[in-house]
Amino acid sequence: MKFSSVKGLKESLAGCLLGQAVGDSLGLPCEGLSPDRIAVLFPLPLRQRLVFGRGMVSDDTEHAALTALAYHESKGSPTEFGIALARNLRWWLAAFPGGVGYATLRALCKSWLGWSPASSGVLSAGNGPAMRGTVLGVLAGEDFEAMKELVKVSTRLTHLDPRAEVGALAVAWAARNSRLTFGLGLSPGLSPRLSPEAANAELTELLSPLQAGSELLELIRRAAESAFKKESAAEFAAAIGSRRGVSGFMFHTVPVVFQVLFAYPGDLKGALTAIISAGGDADTTGAILGGIMGAGLGSDGIPKEWVDRLVDWPWNPASLERLAAAIANKLPTVGVPFWGFQLARNLFFLAVILTHGLRRLAPPY
Ligand SMILES: [Mg+2]
Repeated sequence: MKFSSVKGLKESLAGCLLGQAVGDSLGLPCEGLSPDRIAVLFPLPLRQRLVFGRGMVSDDTEHAALTALAYHESKGSPTEFGIALARNLRWWLAAFPGGVGYATLRALCKSWLGWSPASSGVLSAGNGPAMRGTVLGVLAGEDFEAMKELVKVSTRLTHLDPRAEVGALAVAWAARNSRLTFGLGLSPGLSPRLSPEAANAELTELLSPLQAGSELLELIRRAAESAFKKESAAEFAAAIGSRRGVSGFMFHTVPVVFQVLFAYPGDLKGALTAIISAGGDADTTGAILGGIMGAGLGSDGIPKEWVDRLVDWPWNPASLERLAAAIANKLPTVGVPFWGFQLARNLFFLAVILTHGLRRLAPPY
């Protein structure tokens, strides 16, 4: 299956990055909360509420941008990509990001101490690699083998559990399929260009040779069934063992993302509302879902009120759009933001998160 033109790549990548950033910023205030607590504290409609009605982004957006940059710097060569991504993530960690998963923290410390990208990972099935999977699907999804290799390199840099890799690959596939719908007037979802049977066959062919692939395929089958029965994302999460919101375990996060993709084809507002209302790791679930759907919608398809309320640096709607344009046009980019500025931003972010955390302890209950 051929991807469209340079313009198609620019629009789709910008949509993916922006959708991911918007999902991240909308989910961030709800991170770690139960669905009941979210319903009381943050009544719908969904909007950014981190600080004065504005939203900021976390690791979920930063990793996607740094992964796209590493792909660009390495021109898609897997070895070079691993080296570039490890370097980008090491400096990202050195600026004390507000949110970093435990496995990612340990792996990047190993990377600083000299471990190679192929050996720095730790045994974890956390959802970190999934947030880097969306852009790889958009950038490399034209060739399944290339996409698989890049997802493998990106995953093993931090996570060694086979479930982490197969989950990230499923996310990349979904984003790749979403990109294929861009500009065709199809509602971006999982497989509008394919019959459900053909989509299932494609995903089965991709995942089943991998360890834990069959287990994930079964969870995705249950996700489709659950969406068909019109269960909520929270009900489905509970049914697969994640009771207090959607956990950061790859085999909780990814099946719930698929359940919502099945339930809300082409409806980004409905989809993000559903997945963030399900609570738990809401910034990451929102980010992954936003990234996948954004790849099909393009940046013009992301609701303007959400884009306008995303105020951050260095990653904001304008800079993500510039990054996508530079990559699509194979231009040199400015690279990663200067460490000192990033550190200052992260200290501010930390203060915002702490203030917000205190606010969440207060009524209404
Ligand atoms: Mg996060």
